[in-house]
Amino acid sequence: MSDLATEIHQAVPAAELIDGKAFAAQLRGEVAEGAAGFSRDTGRQPGLAVVLVGNDPASQVYVRTKMRQAAEVGIASFPHLLDANTGEAELLALIDSLNHDDSVDGILVQLPLPAGISEAAVIEAIAPAKDVDGFHPYNVGRLSAGQPVMVPCTPLGCLLLLQDRLGDLSGLKAVVVGRSNIVGKPMAQLLLNANCTVTTVHSRSRNMAEECRQADILVVAVGRPGLVGVEHIKPGATVLDVGINRVEDEQGQSRLVGDVDFAAASRVAGALTPVPGGIGPMTVACLLRNTLTAARQRTR
Ligand code: NDP
Repeated sequence: MSDLATEIHQAVPAAELIDGKAFAAQLRGEVAEGAAGFSRDTGRQPGLAVVLVGNDPASQVYVRTKMRQAAEVGIASFPHLLDANTGEAELLALIDSLNHDDSVDGILVQLPLPAGISEAAVIEAIAPAKDVDGFHPYNVGRLSAGQPVMVPCTPLGCLLLLQDRLGDLSGLKAVVVGRSNIVGKPMAQLLLNANCTVTTVHSRSRNMAEECRQADILVVAVGRPGLVGVEHIKPGATVLDVGINRVEDEQGQSRLVGDVDFAAASRVAGALTPVPGGIGPMTVACLLRNTLTAARQRTR
């Protein structure tokens, strides 16, 4: 690039950074206040059972983070760290006992589960009122009927960030890239419930860039570094990058990146979440929020 081109390139205003880390800290503060009030009223803390099967290092980090942040906001966590050889029947029996344990308001089973255990069977075994991940078919159905109880944490975090930046989302065109049960589908449903015009794009979609370029709101949840570039982004759009990918840089250092080419996108988008520090912290904060919600609903 010539010096002049570089100068012009650098003069283009960068997208506003959506600081998920700061927003999540604020949300945790609100949950801490609510949890303190709950404890005063009931004589006990809201309780979160955290179930981890096996030794997956990433899952161990997630579980530790969730339990540490729970403690910080006054939520009691009850860890159940099970051997990788644990069978489905044993796990289902544990969930049944947690369903009947009055000190437990929320049950989190860290996914993925080892091969041989049916995720669907485990999710369906969790009492819907304690399903703080919002994955039980009852809660999925309630969300699609527009009567949500427990909303999956990552899409909920995205929605809160969008409403904070954009206010009323009615009439905005939203494109969600990815259609998983834990992110893409509930995200599209939440945006529809918020009166957006919603398109979901996935691995079989044609003309992905063209679809994405229509979006006022673009949410990307795929798991492919750099999948979304300038050609996917309408100037001024709000872009949320859910992807978490570990890559090696030129120096051989490992680092986390999202699905969006951050440097390129920040020259076109109106606002953009970073990775890390965007959606990740919001996911954990929303888990704590859901646990408090479950505790309040169970003691009504
Ligand atoms: P899944 O693998 O379950 O789903 C990925 C989706 O992306 C699928 O619907 C798939 O389509 C679609 N896809 C794959 N390739 C393409 C492509 N080339 N173009 C368009 N769509 C494509 O992933 P998750 O939804 O569980 O997670 C997505 C990402 O978000 C991951 O990086 C994960 O680590 C991250 N994540 C981050 C969280 C956070 O807190 N920040 C929480 C949860 C996940 P198809 O259905 O056709 O196969």
